[in-house]
Amino acid sequence: MGLPFFEKAVGFQKRYGRGHSIGNGLQTNGILIDEHWAKFLNTYNFLVGISLDGPEHIHDHYRLRQNGQGSWSRVVDRAKLLLNSKQQNKFGQMKAALPRDCKECQWLHYCWGGCTKDRLNNPHDKSMNYLCLSYKIFFNHADDQMRKMAEKWKRQQNFAISHQQMEFNHEAAKKIGRNDPCPCSSSQKYKKCCGKIS
Ligand code: SF4
Repeated sequence: MGLPFFEKAVGFQKRYGRGHSIGNGLQTNGILIDEHWAKFLNTYNFLVGISLDGPEHIHDHYRLRQNGQGSWSRVVDRAKLLLNSKQQNKFGQMKAALPRDCKECQWLHYCWGGCTKDRLNNPHDKSMNYLCLSYKIFFNHADDQMRKMAEKWKRQQNFAISHQQMEFNHEAAKKIGRNDPCPCSSSQKYKKCCGKIS
């Protein structure tokens, strides 16, 4: 749906809204935002969510543009067009203003209060994320596995670095026996550790 669709929607809201205050929001990958879009979204105080999957190397793993290159730098560039709108600043301030329950929560480092829009949509308490209970159940269930995954990922990184440091090549890899200690210092056998990866 292009800009004309949204202009028309806002026109209908003005015409039929009978003076009510109507909030608009949209989620986008940000690629197509240009000056016209930015002006429109700022003028009508749209709350805009930009889909950015963390740092560049993670985002670009999955989010590719049509030319096959990662989209992170383009999205960040486009997002700058939206900064400093009143609505965006208000949203950012809300994100930082965590309720006491969150500040004392054991899952704060994973969750940080969740997405602010899920606080705004809580009909009972707008300071609290209405998905809080399900987050806690999920983190309780997944924490152990997530830590194991993180450990495994760190080991893979260490192994990749050790490969680079000793200019590891395919011939050298063959010299590591399946039952030898893994060179990534995991204290496991090569076959049970990085040998499964390479
Ligand atoms: S799990 Fe609930 S209390 Fe904990 S940080 Fe997230 S929203 Fe806040």
